[in-house]
Amino acid sequence: MMPLLTLEAASRTYRTRHGLFGKPSDVRAVDRVSLEVAPGRTLGIVGESGCGKSTTGRLALGLETPDAGSVRFRNTAMPPQGSAEWPALRRHMQLVFQDPLGAMDRRLTIAAQIAEPLHIHNIGSPAERAERVAALLRDVGLRPDQAARHPHELSGGQRQRAVLARALATDPALLVCDEPISALDVSIQAQIVNMLADLQAARGIAILFISHDLKVIRQISHDIAVMYLGRVVERGDPDTIFAAPIHPYTKALVSAVPTPGPRRRERIVLTGEPPNPADRPTGCAFHPRCPAAMALCRAEDPPAVTLPDGREVACHLALTPDRIAA
Ligand code: SF4
Repeated sequence: MMPLLTLEAASRTYRTRHGLFGKPSDVRAVDRVSLEVAPGRTLGIVGESGCGKSTTGRLALGLETPDAGSVRFRNTAMPPQGSAEWPALRRHMQLVFQDPLGAMDRRLTIAAQIAEPLHIHNIGSPAERAERVAALLRDVGLRPDQAARHPHELSGGQRQRAVLARALATDPALLVCDEPISALDVSIQAQIVNMLADLQAARGIAILFISHDLKVIRQISHDIAVMYLGRVVERGDPDTIFAAPIHPYTKALVSAVPTPGPRRRERIVLTGEPPNPADRPTGCAFHPRCPAAMALCRAEDPPAVTLPDGREVACHLALTPDRIAA
């Protein structure tokens, strides 16, 4: 199936300065990231804070421009923000944030918030918009009487449902969900994940789901990309990755996810500092924390290689035949 969204070796670097008189330096937030999302599929991006997953989401939406590589939607390069093509394209892709209250206008009713994108994109007559809002409320499991409420009168889960209804108002082909359930209780998280899966099945939406939580990513994703300091270090089918992760960082993440049944994985606890994009180690960026680091790792950044099982891994060990036993 032709991908809806394609990132090809996309990079994004920011220039920062430490203190008023400090020398400017470049921070590589996203480094040669290649990803694809097809209609009706979910690609889960997982990694710690500062790994570049949110910047990747913004690149996917055209809200950031890559300094190198490309981002294509329906095989067409993303137009610059403010161009004539921009509004038409934005209608087909929407962003859902972690904080629904912050994403909403507290003065507007829930119905008015959901109808907002229809006004912005000039879709439908007033009667058609009202009908569409009612249908969206039903689709996300909100009651008709909640349409007249204000954001602070709903629970966190109900607010996230309303934000999703607003994101779906223009019938987008792509949803980028950036930590959409992190602020919710575990039971509510499961409800929202199930609802997203149902909406995807009914509408064929492609979803880029960004989270620090590998357990949630596994529940919802058809494909997984694990990011570390701006790079995708392992990408592939969730079952394959969970059964036998190859990259040492993925191994540590997978080991921390509880498994059902009596068989327990041995937990790999990472030592060392969490990733700091402003202070990138030489060679493989993971080497200061990697239990399998070799001299080569400190000197050379590993290339991403595609393995016979379709996985892509960026680790020197992936090139050695005994990698799985490592
Ligand atoms: Fe560890 Fe080396 Fe692989 Fe990096 S390249 S993850 S340091 S083994």
